[in-house]
Amino acid sequence: MLIAGNWKMYKGPAETAEFCLALRDEDLTGVDVVVCPPYVSLAVAVQLLAGTEIAVAAQNVHWEEEGAYTGEISAAMLRELGVYGAIVGHSERRQHFGETDEMVATRARAALAAGLFVIACVGETEEERERGETEEVLRRQISVLEADDNLVVAYEPVWAIGTGKTATPEIAQQAHAFVRSLIDVPVLYGGSVKPDNATQLLAQPDVDGALVGGASLELDSFTAICRAGARIPS
Ligand code: PEP
Repeated sequence: MLIAGNWKMYKGPAETAEFCLALRDEDLTGVDVVVCPPYVSLAVAVQLLAGTEIAVAAQNVHWEEEGAYTGEISAAMLRELGVYGAIVGHSERRQHFGETDEMVATRARAALAAGLFVIACVGETEEERERGETEEVLRRQISVLEADDNLVVAYEPVWAIGTGKTATPEIAQQAHAFVRSLIDVPVLYGGSVKPDNATQLLAQPDVDGALVGGASLELDSFTAICRAGARIPS
């Protein structure tokens, strides 16, 4: 069971330090925990979580090792910092920054080749679900990814991200089973996971963990979700 916290554009280095100092005192036995702070806060998170079981991942990664790519960060640079992995293809990147499936695949491939662990996000919009296109969208987004020991997919229905509208456990299970029929890697659920819905979602047979946004920003809610994950028999 893997619980990853995507902090989005929240928590600079000072807040990150405060959170990590508190997190490392928590008992998170029985669950793999990853935090994904903004780039500028990665160094302090790596430093403060060193020697713990908690991993630190970035929220994106570029496909080139170096070059004229203003504003981008490479996998080699993340590795140099001691970062363990990276999210790629988050729906906010796809929506606001024009990320295509091909860009997401290129980022994933480069990150995996550099030895990073990758969380690749997929998921349909509300309109796509209403039009009955969920499977077609998932198939297209996953067709560019290749299974790898260091890859997990996060199924994040766009209509459930930051909206408070969680997929029902049945909807999540159905989508996860479909994703798993396309690619043989663990599948995390993401979309308004909170302490009060985590257990039901995580108990679904094809749900291998969660990618948590809003609820990962508060220590109490994040650790409650981690503990819910730890209680699910693997
Ligand atoms: C996310 O950012 O990946 C996410 C799932 O956000 P939230 O939990 O806030 O819906």
